[in-house]
Amino acid sequence: MSKDIATPIRTKEIMKKYGFSFKKSLGQNFLIDPNILENIVEHAGLTKDHGAIEVGPGIGALTEHLARASKKVVSFEIDQRLLPILEDTLSPYDNVKILHSDILKADVEAVMKEEFEGTDDVMVVANLPYYVTTPIILKLLTENLPIKGLVVMLQKEVAERIAARPGSKSYGSLSIAIQYYTEASTVMIVPKTVFMPQPNVDSAVIKLVKREKPAVEVIDENFFFTVTRSSFAQRRKTILNNLTSQLPEGKAKKEQILSALESAGIEPARRGESLSIPEFGALSDALYPHFKN
Ligand code: SAM
Repeated sequence: MSKDIATPIRTKEIMKKYGFSFKKSLGQNFLIDPNILENIVEHAGLTKDHGAIEVGPGIGALTEHLARASKKVVSFEIDQRLLPILEDTLSPYDNVKILHSDILKADVEAVMKEEFEGTDDVMVVANLPYYVTTPIILKLLTENLPIKGLVVMLQKEVAERIAARPGSKSYGSLSIAIQYYTEASTVMIVPKTVFMPQPNVDSAVIKLVKREKPAVEVIDENFFFTVTRSSFAQRRKTILNNLTSQLPEGKAKKEQILSALESAGIEPARRGESLSIPEFGALSDALYPHFKN
């Protein structure tokens, strides 16, 4: 086995050899601790039958651990300057494919068809660029890709919001958007010291296991998400007041909202943060006939 990329000394060596400088605007905070990387890969539960998709390989710190643990790794990197470096650092591995691409623009479904034929279980494993964590996660979940789940590093504060349960301060429309598709949990809190350069915020690793079916069955998904976002517009307002001010104008709107709340069995004076996903589902279906266009 070749020596790890993810040590402070080797990372500095590689950077110097290629004259590479970090781009803050691309969220470049590289991992320099092999133990953390091993932990991340362990949480992903990879075997030599599994495929792995990575977002942002950097100089290959996590990529090489994924290559050792899985059958094949496909990794999307936006920064062209890293391509020759990765070709060098990952040369000991023949099961890695690096694609020069912005993950937000990539046709991941087509890539998966081409690269993972015959591989049933594919996990997304990444140390995400923090400026785009939420759009990346939502893209990978809403495109209905044949992935098992995600194990990703991100800002601790965003991890808390994603995994929050009803009644907690962090629970909101992001928790619902992600937990609608997945079972979400925080698996590790990570100190700043394992990155080069150190980010300004604390980090965490979350595990998102895709559900076979969404957490609740609703008449219209888009409307369900509109209702959840509207319900948290102002956290201190009641659900009735938030929905009244947020939902599009309609005839006798408040009465319709009150009757929908009643038929969904939800007290109008409750706040959005107390409602479970099934309750939001019932409310969205009760409101839908009144508010669809
Ligand atoms: N995986 C490496 C590690 O753990 O050391 C690097 C992680 S670093 C936090 C994020 C990486 O994502 C950087 O290499 C950055 O260039 C890349 N990146 C940023 N935005 C991206 C995008 N939209 N699509 C693909 N890669 C992106």
